[in-house]
Amino acid sequence: MSRENSEDSPEDLARWDREEVWHAFTQMSEYTPWIIESAQGCWLTDIHGRRYLDGVSSLWCNVHGHRHPQVDRAVREQLERVAHVTSLGMSNPTTIRLAHRLVELSPVGLQHVFFSDSGASAVEVAVKMAFQYWQQRSEPRPEKTRFIALDQAYHGDTLGSVSIGGVARFHEMFRPLLFDVLRLPAPDTYRLPPGVSADEACDYYLGQLEAMLKEHHGQVAAMVIEPLVQGAAGMIMQPRGFLRGVRELTRRYEVLLVADEVAVGMGRTGTMFACEQEDVSPDLLCVAKGITGGYLPLAATLATTEIWRAFLGRYDEYKTFFHGHTYGGNPLGAAAAIATLDVFEQEKTLEQLPIKMERLALHLRRIAELPAVGDTRQCGMIGAVELVRDKGTKEPHPWHERRGMQVCETLRGEGVWLRPLGNVLVVMPPLSISLDEIDLIGNAIHKVLL
Ligand SMILES: *Cc1c(COP(=O)(O)O)cnc(C)c1O
Repeated sequence: MSRENSEDSPEDLARWDREEVWHAFTQMSEYTPWIIESAQGCWLTDIHGRRYLDGVSSLWCNVHGHRHPQVDRAVREQLERVAHVTSLGMSNPTTIRLAHRLVELSPVGLQHVFFSDSGASAVEVAVKMAFQYWQQRSEPRPEKTRFIALDQAYHGDTLGSVSIGGVARFHEMFRPLLFDVLRLPAPDTYRLPPGVSADEACDYYLGQLEAMLKEHHGQVAAMVIEPLVQGAAGMIMQPRGFLRGVRELTRRYEVLLVADEVAVGMGRTGTMFACEQEDVSPDLLCVAKGITGGYLPLAATLATTEIWRAFLGRYDEYKTFFHGHTYGGNPLGAAAAIATLDVFEQEKTLEQLPIKMERLALHLRRIAELPAVGDTRQCGMIGAVELVRDKGTKEPHPWHERRGMQVCETLRGEGVWLRPLGNVLVVMPPLSISLDEIDLIGNAIHKVLL
């Protein structure tokens, strides 16, 4: 039986959506269906024809706007050739070209690309590679099996990534299933530790890392970090120089550095990769989300030649990386990713960002003055507005008040879609957003919080 989807009434769709689709990170007993049918540029249109400005890039993913003609065309053209080729022991030209582009583009030293299909998988891959590296490199260090990560880190929802992650609310339930990690406090610049000034913060947090490395480096395989900004934690922004310091310390203490750029990569912070801003080359780099411009699920873990070499050997030495994802490196996704990179060059996306970042900053400064707002912060095209109960003491709204969510619901009535992280409103629109559209978001937030 063939069923035209246009025959399904909005009521049917809403009912099936509520009862049959199990949504991510959503309390289904309270879920109100919101169904997007199409999109263009920075705008989403729902099944009732209402339009919303996509203020969060469809969760970090969209880069050049929805339905970008060039990315659309690249996917269509790939469809005319082949939709899927496995990466287990074989290849295809589009995936190869993407790997080559990523090697050219990424921080120096990263020359080998392992494809998967989600950010969590990209991190999982990096963690397993780091572990296996120390076991089987030419001078093995089998006791290096542990990981260092930051408090409130978020690296995805598979069990390895959750072990590395530190968002108690999401992760506590699964504690018995997780491996133990050495945990450092989040290098927060808004809520500083008592007695530590903003100027001292970087040295303070690096001092803690150094103390940990001094004691444990012999057992540590790698440190995993979200460079510059801890996204899901509520856009915790690191002091300038912190990432650079982390690289220097991990190198000095012979610990690998895994940079999880799943969120901050692909131009989001103003440079293609966040690591570039502190001139850092990690040993492993994870990318996903924006890599296909928000079109298809594709992720990559980039590794140095030093790591890659540890996995080479005769077949019966079992040095192979025994890990794979069926759709890893899928050619349709790779075609979308290549087109996304092409558009970066043709539209000079990064060169256009400073003026947009400045406009966003202008709005954030105005919003920061409102009594409901404790802090606004920005890194490139990530803006955050932290709502507090008390501006002086920085006392947060209790979680159950759902302050962020309420504000976002009101904003939706204004035609602006933002998704909160607890009490933090997040602005991270497609990089292609216009100045007028930034104004629309900024003015709507100001109006709603006034
Ligand atoms: C979203 C995110 C992930 C997980 O990516 P998925 O594609 O959702 O699995 C990992 N790390 C960071 C920093 C993220 O923001």
